[in-house]
Amino acid sequence: MTPIAHTELLNWYSVNKRKLPWRDTQNPYPIWLSEVILQQTRVDQGMSYYLRFMENFPDIHQLANASEEQVLKLWQGLGYYSRARNMHATAKYISQNLNGIFPGSSVELAKLKGIGPYTAAAIASFAFHEAVPVLDGNVFRVLSRLWDEDSAIDSTQGKKRFQLLAFESLNLSYPHLHNQAIMELGALVCKPKNPDCPNCPIQTWCMAFKADTVSMRPVKAGKTKVKNRYMHYFFMENGKSFLVAKRKAGDIWQGLFDLPEISFDAQPSDSQLTQAFQNLNSELKQVQLFSHFVYESIHLLSHRRLFARFYHLQFEGEVPGIHGFELVELEKLTRLPASRLFEKFQKNYILQERKQE
Ligand code: SF4
Repeated sequence: MTPIAHTELLNWYSVNKRKLPWRDTQNPYPIWLSEVILQQTRVDQGMSYYLRFMENFPDIHQLANASEEQVLKLWQGLGYYSRARNMHATAKYISQNLNGIFPGSSVELAKLKGIGPYTAAAIASFAFHEAVPVLDGNVFRVLSRLWDEDSAIDSTQGKKRFQLLAFESLNLSYPHLHNQAIMELGALVCKPKNPDCPNCPIQTWCMAFKADTVSMRPVKAGKTKVKNRYMHYFFMENGKSFLVAKRKAGDIWQGLFDLPEISFDAQPSDSQLTQAFQNLNSELKQVQLFSHFVYESIHLLSHRRLFARFYHLQFEGEVPGIHGFELVELEKLTRLPASRLFEKFQKNYILQERKQE
């Protein structure tokens, strides 16, 4: 970008920028928090999470001292729960090992858990004004159009190319404002569909606009393959307690509470499912599952399509145990950090049922 485009971009930004609570600060803690929350999340959706985290944990020591359950409960509904766990681990590290002080450069920041090159650059740029470009999805799109670049933004080669273009475009006098402005331009003007080119402050310098290739930029190599998973959930209770456990590492939703569940790569037959269920505990031998089927939902994750079915099994006395699961009072149900899928089942079935009792 030429120096004139820099001026146009910054002038536009100073007039049009949204007022966001993490913008007018150089404190790395709220900047980091907002960046972690806003990865793969829209600003309007992430805002309430940001405000809740800041209210509950106003500084890094308070976040570090929170329990994992408190953190996951506040995070509930945002998805990508490893982000919350990594954020918590990093808060502990900075609080306990660095006296609560964030490392002052993008290189040092990128060594921390859960802080990738993007977040490291964002914190270093906005908090410490380091002259490093910040490349989020919005910036990739603006740069691909500004330079009419046809390298795929999701290929290794393409990412290197865009890193170069981003350095080339950086405003070295005001790198932090430049980064915020180009991100904001991508969010408000240079949108994925129907970009507002007539009102774009850098249209004069936009090569894709000149070449009439805006709708072809950015180029993507290929979509992520989505795998189906068929999940069968068992809500097993006796009116007072129900069976639940924290999900283990190496699978989705690590650390969140979930019901006993059996998953398949293809939808099982009734007899296959019943057999697998009965194998969980010999006391379940007489149960015919299909008569307990109460709710189903299709739930999308970035790489998976989950077809979930829920079965409600009420027991008169003891609930038969399942290895790894514990009995928790039904009263605690909504206070446990849970996936959005389990939350949907709670709202649409369990809580409705309990209202009727
Ligand atoms: Fe994006 Fe259009 Fe502006 Fe080019 S002119 S940067 S395509 S909004």
